Amino acid sequence: MPHPDFPNLTVLDHPLIQHKLTILRDKRTATRDFKQLVSEIATLMAYEVTKDLPLEPVEIDTPLEHMQGAQVAGKKLTLVPILRAGLGMVDGISTLIPSARVGHIGLYRDHDTLNPVDYYFKIPAGEQDRAFFVLDPMLATGGSAVAAVTALQRAGAGRIRFLCIVAAPEGVRLMLAHHPGVPLYAAALDRELNARGYILPGLGDAGDRLFGTGRQ
Ligand code: URA
Repeated sequence: MPHPDFPNLTVLDHPLIQHKLTILRDKRTATRDFKQLVSEIATLMAYEVTKDLPLEPVEIDTPLEHMQGAQVAGKKLTLVPILRAGLGMVDGISTLIPSARVGHIGLYRDHDTLNPVDYYFKIPAGEQDRAFFVLDPMLATGGSAVAAVTALQRAGAGRIRFLCIVAAPEGVRLMLAHHPGVPLYAAALDRELNARGYILPGLGDAGDRLFGTGRQ
């Protein structure tokens, strides 16, 4: 069900997602567990987010009979992690959808304009017929999310969903302003951003905690 304040946002409140998210937020959680938890939350989120994927009939033979089964319609689903923290969500979703293709988007912030610019963009062909899941654990200012979706749409992608673990209201609002047709899914909608662009209460720098690159 969409969030009462944001028609573009669904917060996934499954008890297992919420339980794992609390451990993820805890500053005592070590890199190895953090990585594992991001992956597990992504798996659980993918289960919820794929609930309405269209099916098409397919004829098969069981060992006993011919029958009509069902398969997910259209070209293979494509996961598009935003580098680098989005990478942490890929394995968890691929566990559930092993046939998913994986594109990549790398963005940096231009020092003069402060706008995100994509330095790397690679997605599989057949953009019009694919469903895309853009992945980034943190939807903070929303600048990268807007830029990633804009780049995908420019490449011809039609069906795009955005999956994050923690969202800030500022990012959800920016996505609503620029891409109102792109559904957002999050495990939590947090309070606000601080002056440095970190989500409060948040979980810190997701990339650093995933890859163990934080300076103590
Ligand atoms: N990116 C992060 O990794 N953490 C935040 O809190 C905000 C953006």
